[in-house]
Amino acid sequence: MTVTAFDTTPYENTTPYETKDPGRRDQYASGMLSQPATGRPRFDLIVPENVPYDEQLLTCCAALMTSGAEKYTRYGECTCSEGEKDAGQHLPGCPALTISTRGERNWEKADSQAELDRMKASAFRHFMQWLTGETDEDHAAAVVFNLLAAESTAYAIGQRRTAVGNDRAQDPAR
Ligand SMILES: [Zn+2]
Repeated sequence: MTVTAFDTTPYENTTPYETKDPGRRDQYASGMLSQPATGRPRFDLIVPENVPYDEQLLTCCAALMTSGAEKYTRYGECTCSEGEKDAGQHLPGCPALTISTRGERNWEKADSQAELDRMKASAFRHFMQWLTGETDEDHAAAVVFNLLAAESTAYAIGQRRTAVGNDRAQDPAR
């Protein structure tokens, strides 16, 4: 991708507001103009070049979360008894084939210090396992997942505290 930058500020700012538009445009060979991406998070840089799709840490994290979503999905109770004989082979209409609770985003429900502590402990344990070369699980992906979960939970706890604080400010008797 080749871009050339040039200045396009022929007009005066006559509004009382400061414009967020820096006036600069990148022009592509096609002629398309775009605002420069300066300062914006570069998600694309999380994906290193020359590492195949299957080996990307991001892919491994997504795979871990996919299996987690399946693991924590709850189905109805089997009433056909076929499932007991051969797991998953239920008769059509058996509630065991019907999802009662979706497992995906299960971890996003966490909003307590106890859950945060558990995520931190898990992140540290998986990091130690990764550091000491254990390969029984994808410990690198597990570290990333637990950091994501812990940071999200810390955010949720902070949001709740802010909400409680706002309630107290509005009603000091509480
Ligand atoms: Zn069944």
